Amino acid sequence: MDKSPNNHVSRREFMKRNTLAGLGAVIGTTISAPVIGNRVMEKPALLGGTPAWSKVQWPEWPQWDPETDEKRLLEVMRSGVWSRADTVLEFEKEWASAIGTKRSLAVVNGTNALVIALAQMNIGAGDEVLVPPYTFIATVSAVLTNGAMPVFVDVDRETFQMDPAKIEAQITPRTKAIIPVHIMGLPCDMDPILAIAKKHNLAVIEDSCQAHLAEYGGKKVGSIGQAGCFSFQNSKNMPIGEGGAITSDDEEFMDRCYSFHNLGNPYGTAVGAVGVGSIMQGTKLRFSEYQAAIGLAQLKRLDAQTTTRNENAAYLKSQVEKIPGIMPYRLYEKVNRAAYHLFPFRYDPEGFKGLSREGFLKALRMEGIPCSSGYTVLNTQPFLAETFQSPGYRKVYPAKMLDIKNYNERNYCPENEKLCSEAVWFTQNLLLGSRSDMDAIASAIKKVHGNAEQVKAKSE
Ligand SMILES: *Cc1c(COP(=O)(O)O)cnc(C)c1O
Repeated sequence: MDKSPNNHVSRREFMKRNTLAGLGAVIGTTISAPVIGNRVMEKPALLGGTPAWSKVQWPEWPQWDPETDEKRLLEVMRSGVWSRADTVLEFEKEWASAIGTKRSLAVVNGTNALVIALAQMNIGAGDEVLVPPYTFIATVSAVLTNGAMPVFVDVDRETFQMDPAKIEAQITPRTKAIIPVHIMGLPCDMDPILAIAKKHNLAVIEDSCQAHLAEYGGKKVGSIGQAGCFSFQNSKNMPIGEGGAITSDDEEFMDRCYSFHNLGNPYGTAVGAVGVGSIMQGTKLRFSEYQAAIGLAQLKRLDAQTTTRNENAAYLKSQVEKIPGIMPYRLYEKVNRAAYHLFPFRYDPEGFKGLSREGFLKALRMEGIPCSSGYTVLNTQPFLAETFQSPGYRKVYPAKMLDIKNYNERNYCPENEKLCSEAVWFTQNLLLGSRSDMDAIASAIKKVHGNAEQVKAKSE
């Protein structure tokens, strides 16, 4: 089947390709809009009005051009060289240059980029790693895979990010690293995070899996801490299907990462004596030539797409931030550019006559606007208690640390719980639409706002 960018991809198909919990797919039907009361207020689609957005599809994701992308992929196939070789090397050079680091290592996915980076900073059994609770589970599972203990730092709801003011209270003699996650593609406040890390001698690994080409203080995220980790999973702003990368200026660290991802074979400064074989413990997490071929093609459109997302996000924000009950993200002062993997805002039913978030999302979907409620609370999910019961953890940590009641108390993040109950997300592909698409989103929200009482009655 030809899936060139010009072909229609239904929202159902988009859902199949990009798994994001709760993302709705409702296409409204066209019915004429009446005037409500004495003010001209279009009827929401949920009440039988015309959907604010009724085109066939939002910009599809992922996108590719048969001329460039398919050609490059076919070249790899026809070469017969499919395992890691020159194409991967070329991709790594380009990715390092895009992020502004000396080196980059391409690996199987973003999750394992984090696993490798932690392992090669010698973080493992008995160590604590500071993470935010408002993140994708992979940030936390990478810590657990290394046998370390995730310790949660509550978020600032206005920015959706780890709150630097809450970091120091969570530091103990076991703390070895901080993983700031530039969640939604919005940069964390790196200056205070770096200052705290320096004071306590902690490594900083930036989880930049949602933040390709985002910029803080004139530097790309992923180049600010000791290492950055990226994901190229299908839904991400740089989609390859699966894939990931580590970025860093530390050559010795990168040599060890390389060696580790290639079964401990010598590489660069990570060398042993000639003929003695593998020099360190490793595993196999190599990128393939196919992935690199797709990545090189995708990279050519990433910058322009990022600019479009920034322009549309700024415009959309300006159109919705005055609506009572809609509180869009705030960017930190030093942010030059965000990546907008998602466009997030907080929803307050108070501004909508008590209309629940679920009712609001349902009404928006009827308007033709795909949206979701985003992450659920992560730091109380059963995988943590289960891990703490494992023989490995019980050998390493004192019983009190593994006591889940004690753990939950220490890791209580009330701001995050609130955030999870009030967040609304639009996915990045919506931000690749036109200015009038952004107007449609804003007018859909305004319609629901102006008719909140009736929408509430109808949706509950
Ligand atoms: C996607 C993602 C990851 C993991 O990347 P994969 O390539 O899916 O393994 C890690 N952290 C965050 C914040 C992510 O969004």
